[in-house]
Order: sequence, then structure tokens, then C-alpha cells
Amino acid sequence: MRKPQVVRADALPQRVTIYEVGPRDGLQNEQTVVPLETKAEFVRRLVAAGLPIVETTSFVHPTWVPQLADAEQLIDLLSDAGGFDARRMPVLVPNERGLDRAREKGIEHIAIFGSATETFARRNLNRSLEEQFTMFEPVATRARAAGMQVRAYISMCFGDPWEGDVPIEQVVTVGKRLIELGASQLSLGDTIGVGTAGHVTALLEAFMAAGVHPDTLAVHFHDTYGQALSNTTAALHAGVTTIDASAGGLGGCPYAESATGNLPTEDLVWMLHGMGIETGVDLAQLVAVSTWMASVLGRPSPSRVVGALSG
Ligand code: MG
Repeated sequence: MRKPQVVRADALPQRVTIYEVGPRDGLQNEQTVVPLETKAEFVRRLVAAGLPIVETTSFVHPTWVPQLADAEQLIDLLSDAGGFDARRMPVLVPNERGLDRAREKGIEHIAIFGSATETFARRNLNRSLEEQFTMFEPVATRARAAGMQVRAYISMCFGDPWEGDVPIEQVVTVGKRLIELGASQLSLGDTIGVGTAGHVTALLEAFMAAGVHPDTLAVHFHDTYGQALSNTTAALHAGVTTIDASAGGLGGCPYAESATGNLPTEDLVWMLHGMGIETGVDLAQLVAVSTWMASVLGRPSPSRVVGALSG
């Protein structure tokens, strides 16, 4: 399989950690409900392809996300025959009930899901922007007391479908509050994919000016407007070394009328490897996983790299 010619770019990190969100963020936004065994196979194959972190599922109430109603069974299935410790992989936890469920399964790493905007907080969390911190406080405190790592997603960092532009200072304020609550990593989400590279640079510089080190930051770009890789390059230049991506671009975008949502992991890996940045991922193996998953879902992957390499 073709590989990019490696031409090392200056002033970029030697190594990047890809945080794979396909099984959770990807599958929760797909219309097709994937059978339990197929999900487990998906996670196993992603790990086998070299992805160091795979967010496996969400302990959200099944009413809200029926696609991931089998969270406990998935962890059990992966633990029985995974070849790796599924408990060390992160899961999404929306509230204290979710935390209890994750703890019952011995999970060591959780992610909470916050909002940078008032409207999305009300629509997605049924809380005000301020009230979300009250909701997360006991989750983060109890998780940390139990020795768990806590990642905090922040949605709508670069634009909001109802409010339009989102002030940079507002995102930084939300991020700082989540760190104070105990988050060890923030994932800055461009949920509707409207951000551009200069905006990324400005937001990351504002976080650093507020005392947040780039090691604490991850970026979560959507490719809705074709900006995800450009935005990723801006983040790399700012010193960010954790990038979220979804195998095969799974997930669409629930808040924009578009088939393209999450940045496809393959597109990211192609770019990083071409720039001489190590990821530990075997691209050919990963493309095979996404080609298989596309056949399960009955539609081609929106990833350009999957399309180019599997044709
Ligand atoms: Mg996403």
C-alpha cells in the first residue's frame, strides 16, 4: 500500500498521540446500530492497528444514545478476549450515575462532556453554562478520589449553530473551570467544523496566556468545511500533541446537514507520517479496519485516504 514520502517539517513534535473516538463519538452518531460483537471487533482491530487510546463507549442513559446501550456488555466482552485491558481505555461518563456504572466495571479513565456555549449546554446537558460545573463537580471529584483520569470535552469552541460566533475568552474561561474541577486534559471541540487555522492559533495562545500548558490540551476537529487537517497543523505548531480522530471518519455531524463530521483517523495519519511525525499506527491495517466497518454500515467511508488506498 502506498505511503507518503516523508519530508520532515520544522518545529513540529516528534510524536503525536492519536485519541481514537470512532467506537464512541463515531458510532453514537451513526444511524445504524452496530451489534455488540462487531463493536468489540472494531475496538480490538483499532488497538491492533496501533492506536494507543480508544474511547470505547459511553455510560450515558440508553434512552439518549441507544447506539451505545450495551456499554457494560462491551467492556465485559473486551475484557474476556481483548488481548488488552479494556478498563484502561477511556469511556464517556455524563453524570454520577454514569460514573457509578464505569466504576463497577473497573474503568480507570473517564471523559466528561461540557459546553462552551449557553445554548448547547441547555440543549445537550439540560443545564445552563454555569450549572454544568455544578453537575460535573461531584463526578470529577469522585473520579479523581478513585484514582481515575478525567478528560473534559468542550463542545462548540469555534462556533455554535444557534449562537454563531463563540468568544475565545468564553472558551478559555470554561476550560479553566474544568481544569479546576480536576480535568487533566481538555479536548477542544469544533463540533460544527467551522473553525479555521488562525482561529485555532488564537484560541491555543489564549489558553497558554491563561497558564494552560499545551500538554493539557487536545483538539477535536470536524471536517465539515474541509478545515480539519489545516486546523490540526495549526495546533501542532502551537505545541499540541494529542489529536482526536475517528477511524474512517465515522460519526457524521449531528448539528450540521453534512455527511462529513469527525476528522478521519486515516487522513490524520497520512499527514502526520508524511511530516515525519510518529504515531505508532499502521496505516494499511487501519484502512482495512475502516473498509470493513464501511461494509458493516453499508456505505463508503468519507475518509479521502481510505478512498484512495482501498480503491
Ligand atoms: Mg466529534
